[in-house]
Amino acid sequence: MKRVFSSYNLQIVHHARNLLEAAGVRAVVKNEFLASGMGELPPAECQPELWVMRDSDAARAEEILRFPAQATNDWRCGCGETLGGQFTQCWHCGSQRG
Ligand SMILES: [Zn+2]
Repeated sequence: MKRVFSSYNLQIVHHARNLLEAAGVRAVVKNEFLASGMGELPPAECQPELWVMRDSDAARAEEILRFPAQATNDWRCGCGETLGGQFTQCWHCGSQRG
């Protein structure tokens, strides 16, 4: 496992994780419970962190987080749903990718 991202803002860390997952990179958020519910800024060691499961994904993960739009390769279904590049079928209406 390798850490690829951290922020005091848990929502941003989760957003980053979603970007990685959408690109097919397995990632987990650490420290999210340490940092939550404290009402004040947590110390640096309690920042939410994003880790990739495979060390070999770290370089790709950093690239994705730097250029999220290109990396995720989203597509839009005819029904209006936006889907991640790893999906070949719309989860909303069931259509195949065009
Ligand atoms: Zn659809």
